[in-house]
Amino acid sequence: MKEYSGLQIIRHALAGNLGWRRAWRDPGVKREYDVVIIGGGGHGLATAYYLAKNHGIKRIAVLEKGYLGGGNVGRNTTIVRSNYMIDGNTQFYDWSMQLWEGLSQELNYNVMFSQRGQITLANTPDQVDSFARRLNIMKLNGIDCELWSRDQVRKAVPYLDYSDSARFPVHGAMYQGKAGTARHDAVAWGYARAADRLGVDLIQNCEVLGFLYEGGRVSGVNTSRGEIRAGRIGISVAGSSGLVAAMAGLKLPIESHVLQAFVTEPVKPLVDQVIACAHPHFYISQSDKGGLVIGGDLDGYNSYAQRGNFPVVAEVAQLACSLMPCISRLRLLRHWGGIMDMSMDGSPIISTTPISGLYLNAGWCYGGFKATPAAGWTFAHTIATGRPHELNEKFSLGRFRTGAMLNESGAGPNPNAH
Ligand code: FAD
Repeated sequence: MKEYSGLQIIRHALAGNLGWRRAWRDPGVKREYDVVIIGGGGHGLATAYYLAKNHGIKRIAVLEKGYLGGGNVGRNTTIVRSNYMIDGNTQFYDWSMQLWEGLSQELNYNVMFSQRGQITLANTPDQVDSFARRLNIMKLNGIDCELWSRDQVRKAVPYLDYSDSARFPVHGAMYQGKAGTARHDAVAWGYARAADRLGVDLIQNCEVLGFLYEGGRVSGVNTSRGEIRAGRIGISVAGSSGLVAAMAGLKLPIESHVLQAFVTEPVKPLVDQVIACAHPHFYISQSDKGGLVIGGDLDGYNSYAQRGNFPVVAEVAQLACSLMPCISRLRLLRHWGGIMDMSMDGSPIISTTPISGLYLNAGWCYGGFKATPAAGWTFAHTIATGRPHELNEKFSLGRFRTGAMLNESGAGPNPNAH
């Protein structure tokens, strides 16, 4: 596709951008594909891209009930890290980090990946001990990490509350220098554009309403735009996983909860890294526009409501002001919610299912944005070959039956913390 030079961009701006091409096609629905992916979030788009790129599959469609990137991929707080502890997660998230590091070049699209470092605060002496244990495991796996003393934290982020009366005293921190943020919607757009160029049909406003079967295996989907046949179907719908799997008669070990995020008015550079705490659950970074991007804990009850609510605004604002008193007079600009697919052990599912031809990518809890490249890579492998990649072998749906759980307690999103 033609790329534009600086002068051409000015000319297009003055001419109302009328000559610009769409970033991806708006294809009509074909009645048959080799692979259909349900869900046009980051994971669905990445899966389609790697199916075409790594496995040479030609006839692929992504079916999205709304618009591409309208789900969690465009709603998250954009933190990318690989400081996981449990065998399986450690290697998977490390591979994801490696893919992030080359992603803008891979997609020829700037996803604004910024490795600004993440400081995870220890607010109790016990947390320092548990961070030391986690850090040793990470080091054994070759993942960058440091244990910081209280003085080191204070030097890096002097504006936290270090007083004797601090509600959340700082005892130290775990630091990962390779962690950071990426522009979330650019990730969706980058994968969409790259998949489109490999011939993937990205079909928006196309809701999957049910499954079709033939000879004991899934053979297609019934959608708001008619029936579409495909021999292999991948479900990648994040917070709607339980609903879509139920259409195929599958009951998943997943609960859906709302997670909210908040952004303040823009200010001059203040928060250079990502700062996070595990207990209380809180995280803050600064966007390139200057807004402080803040997140807290899940809503404690099951819900499919994709919106924020005031009790959580009050709770997160209290946490923010307790940790960083200097931001207490900032105004909150916006808050919103996304629906989280909370698995029962805090680890994801990238797996075959008991139904032949049907594959599942779900259970991402708080942490699926950072997983986007590796989830797409390994889900594509699983769909293309019918077998797990070595990196997602442990993420099987069957583990909830056999009891081989991957309890990522404390290091990842842990539903049991609530
Ligand atoms: P989505 O973007 O939600 O994609 C799923 C798509 O499926 C949606 O577009 C939806 O419309 C579509 N769909 C649903 N049902 C159907 C149907 N029947 N037919 C067709 N399409 C359907 N993760 C991190 O790693 N770091 C973070 O800092 C972080 N912060 C977060 C903060 C918030 C507030 C939220 C909500 C999430 C956060 N996450 C974070 C989690 C992360 O955003 C998700 O785990 C990840 O984006 C999920 O994968 P996805 O992008 O494919 O999901």
